[in-house]
Amino acid sequence: MAKSAVNGTNAKASVASRKRKAKEETQEEQQADAEPETPVSATAAKAKANVKAEKDDLEVKAVATPAKKSKAAKKAKTDDEPLASRTDVTQLKKAMYIGAHVSSAGGVQNSVSNAAHIGGNAFALFLKSQRKWQNPPLADDARDAFHAACAEAEFDASRHCLPHGSYLVNLAQAEEAKLDQAYTTFVDDLRRCDALGICLYNFHPGAVAGNGTRESALDRIAAALNRAHADTAPSKVVTVIENMAGQGTTVGDRFEDLAAIIAQIDDKTRVGVCIDTCHAFAAGYDLRTPESFNKVIAEFDRIVGLQYLRAVHLNDSKAPLASHRDLHANIGTGFLGLRAFHSLVNNDAFAGLPMVLETPIDRVGSDGKESENRQVWADEIKLLESLIGMDPESDEFKMKEKALQAEGAEERARLQEQVNKKSAKDVKKKR
Ligand SMILES: [Zn+2]
Ligand SMILES: [Zn+2]
Repeated sequence: MAKSAVNGTNAKASVASRKRKAKEETQEEQQADAEPETPVSATAAKAKANVKAEKDDLEVKAVATPAKKSKAAKKAKTDDEPLASRTDVTQLKKAMYIGAHVSSAGGVQNSVSNAAHIGGNAFALFLKSQRKWQNPPLADDARDAFHAACAEAEFDASRHCLPHGSYLVNLAQAEEAKLDQAYTTFVDDLRRCDALGICLYNFHPGAVAGNGTRESALDRIAAALNRAHADTAPSKVVTVIENMAGQGTTVGDRFEDLAAIIAQIDDKTRVGVCIDTCHAFAAGYDLRTPESFNKVIAEFDRIVGLQYLRAVHLNDSKAPLASHRDLHANIGTGFLGLRAFHSLVNNDAFAGLPMVLETPIDRVGSDGKESENRQVWADEIKLLESLIGMDPESDEFKMKEKALQAEGAEERARLQEQVNKKSAKDVKKKR
């Protein structure tokens, strides 16, 4: 696999990989405008600032004008030979539409070819810069090009495209001006979905602001959703709430939170849920064995209702169960392991839904430099598709499972140590 080819273990690679580790650690999704977690040290604060700078970079990339296109963008144009062919879903034993959160740099229309390029049958994208409040409106030609690209690549944008909302938006905001700003950005995204023929819109529910309670945060999110549904009516766009890892003051880590929001929604046809496997696991839902997986799904059905399940984010977890840390790992290399994903792709509840990888793809190349390697996603899509109907007791499965766990062993040990240290500290504090 190309994946191992870029995972060199030379000295250069290990320096870069340490750098990557430090970066990933601080890349845990943070709900903006939430009470930020107090940085444990000045180093952590600095690392956070670095990540912020990096994310701003991405932002620039996402809105780059053609004249300013980076080398990477130019390169992407020249190697348009697909990294993997797209699987005919009708030929799979179960209709699993698997893809990744791809770049929409240069315009939303580019996400379609980026999705096809890695052999995806579903995709996620940002509709505008996810780290900026001010964005130019969706251009008519970008909209038309998106429709044309979907038609040409035979993507049903209404079913298999799952845009991700801005990280800045917190619909649980208590301050009126801040809530207004969040709401305006949110509704603008829903209108973009309508223009693009997209019917599913994924967003983070939010975080408790100020000295508010969890309950009032959930109430405010529901109120904002009702208002957004009314303001955009008539519209087919379903607002899809993502379950969270429960980091900081973030809400939506418990299924009960999702149910409490949904219970207050007037138009239930316009609300749904996206399960992020890493977030669920980090929040304490054990998906590792077939038995525990089925238990979690039954619990979701009992508390939320499977009819609300509209999408999936496919991520392994670098951090252990119930660690409340949002650290995505490559499929099979994390604490979830390959068996969890075998359970998922063989479960009818997930058939037909868009399933999106948000796994890390920064890899060290032969030049010692780190860059995005989209082959990683292409390989992960094929890996997940190969699990459909595979006997988990077969040598083929066991060998894959073992190899991937070995690949992630060092990283898991490192995160386990961090978690252990933190809980030891917490115990001390309590004394
Ligand atoms: Zn998310
Ligand atoms: Zn996610």
